[in-house]
Amino acid sequence: MARYNGAVCRLCRREGVKLYLKGERCYSDKCAIDRRAYAPGQHGQGRKKVSEYGLQLREKQKARRVYGVLEKQFASYYKEAARRKGITGENLLQILESRLDNVVYRLGFASSRAEARQLVRHGHFTVNGKRLDIPSYLTKPGDVIGIREKSLESPRIKELLEIAETRTVVPWLERDLDAKTGRIVRVPARDEIDIPVAEQMIVEYYSR
Ligand code: SF4
Repeated sequence: MARYNGAVCRLCRREGVKLYLKGERCYSDKCAIDRRAYAPGQHGQGRKKVSEYGLQLREKQKARRVYGVLEKQFASYYKEAARRKGITGENLLQILESRLDNVVYRLGFASSRAEARQLVRHGHFTVNGKRLDIPSYLTKPGDVIGIREKSLESPRIKELLEIAETRTVVPWLERDLDAKTGRIVRVPARDEIDIPVAEQMIVEYYSR
């Protein structure tokens, strides 16, 4: 499966905002955006004049980068969001939030979405009792995410579970750390999605 393999911190610097793509490092003083708060590249510190289109493009890129989704898949999420009833921008974020890798991250079973994606791909998780290794799988309310019995022996999973004990989960998810499971209670409301993105601009981008 294709994915972005370049330097990750560069993406945050490009967007001019912390996207929290690297787990623990993002909370340390090693964060690149704290040290070099300007866009990467030769003209990164140059004068900026951004057009309306440029602003819309940046919002779309930001959302894509936060969730680690490639262009084509993102466009298909948009299509699905526009097809659904309700506000398209909000629908889009709800679809992105329902991805299995995002839910694993939100449950605190991974330190970043990228790590969640890798753990899912390596088959460490189950959905409703069945092993599922597709990070883009779209979960729905009522689904129960579990950690495979065998995976509980993995040192990294053990470490992540210890960290999870110190963190709370978002209100639309329920977590049972004794059972090592999480449940999707409902679809999140917009104000429960802490993503620094103006989704209306993404809608404008695709409506051009
Ligand atoms: Fe972004 Fe995290 Fe890198 Fe900071 S450390 S620039 S928040 S990915």
